[in-house]
Amino acid sequence: MELQDYYRQIKQQLEDSGIETPDLDARALISRHTGLEQSDFIMLRDQLLDSKAIEAINIDVEKRLSGEPVSRILGAREFWGLEFKVTPDVLDPRPDTETLVEAALKWVKSQGLDQKPIRIVDLGTGTGCIPIALLSELPLATALAIDISEEAVAIARHNAEQNGVSERLEVRQGSWMDGLDGENFDLIVSNPPYIPASDIDNLSPEVKNHDPILALSGGNDGLDCYKKIISYGNINLNSTNRMFLEIGFDQQKSVSRLVEESNLCVCDSHPDIAGIPRVLEICRGDK
Ligand code: GLN
Repeated sequence: MELQDYYRQIKQQLEDSGIETPDLDARALISRHTGLEQSDFIMLRDQLLDSKAIEAINIDVEKRLSGEPVSRILGAREFWGLEFKVTPDVLDPRPDTETLVEAALKWVKSQGLDQKPIRIVDLGTGTGCIPIALLSELPLATALAIDISEEAVAIARHNAEQNGVSERLEVRQGSWMDGLDGENFDLIVSNPPYIPASDIDNLSPEVKNHDPILALSGGNDGLDCYKKIISYGNINLNSTNRMFLEIGFDQQKSVSRLVEESNLCVCDSHPDIAGIPRVLEICRGDK
């Protein structure tokens, strides 16, 4: 079958089942098994696809039709312009989380800390997307990435290697900041699990059937992890360092209250591209 006919057919199938980006998805799945690049879809329209490739693509299309996200099928996701390995053991990095990277970098640069060998810690690192993105921008910095899941630790290490920052990123299995007494950090970052347990059933199948529950659930009120992290913030934040936390779309008030109850301060909040407060910047003392 010719590339253009097959591409149109797949795209139509995806579109008919209500998938939002049928053309992007069709191209990604076809490229995976043919090695074709984006421009080839125009230049090589008449190219014949062999039946083995078609068979393999059809299997992926079935997965996509049953709700598996493209990133899960490919086992890879782009974040901050870098490529990350994604497996069923880790959260699929979201574009919203780039808001956290951007906000943290802005603060680092405003303090001139991009010229210093700063130390970063990321709590619940998953793929490692946050510290790896930060290290890619801050060549003098080093980071520690923590995750409770042994599988996530292995994937974060793989991703650090893949993106050339493994010498500056240490990945450890652990629970939040347990056992890190006495270590000082200039930047504490986290995108913790924050979905209230009772909301998980209402998430789209693409999320609830493919992201690990451990990476989604924030306990009954969705705030369990924030309570933990903020209690560590209380010990670790001083007048010169900062913490950046990603929050759910409706959690600005509730997480800010936890911060204030802990005698810390929300010194800024950063909206995502939809204008929703997505990241809280937390410090000790006044704004
Ligand atoms: N820090 C990782 C990310 O932002 C994992 C977050 C999580 O598992 N909740 O993708």
